Amino acid sequence: MYQCPACKATTIRFSRKWLSTPVVPAHCRACGAYSHAHRSSGGLGIVVGALVITAGGIAASALQAFWPLGLGITAALSFCVWHIHRIPLEALSAEQVSVARATEGMGFLAFLMAFLLNS
Ligand SMILES: [Zn+2]
Repeated sequence: MYQCPACKATTIRFSRKWLSTPVVPAHCRACGAYSHAHRSSGGLGIVVGALVITAGGIAASALQAFWPLGLGITAALSFCVWHIHRIPLEALSAEQVSVARATEGMGFLAFLMAFLLNS
């Protein structure tokens, strides 16, 4: 469980922190505040994870064994969980959530239209 950035009550579960975005924020049961875990360095985690898994795959192929790939996948997942655990939750106002929902909702609509028009 993690502390709500608004009231400091320990009410946010790991799964809610992990899946929180400005569109679908974590919601504090004590004070009702919204928050999300900002993933500014999430791209670095993906690159490191991809490199570790690729290195594990190459080592698994060279050694004709599965364990190096399993080790690489485990290391990449552990890094991902540690990264989400480490980054702080940031408070979001109800206005920020509604703006994010409107903008990203329009983004999804644009993506859907582009997909339908090009198929
Ligand atoms: Zn709270």
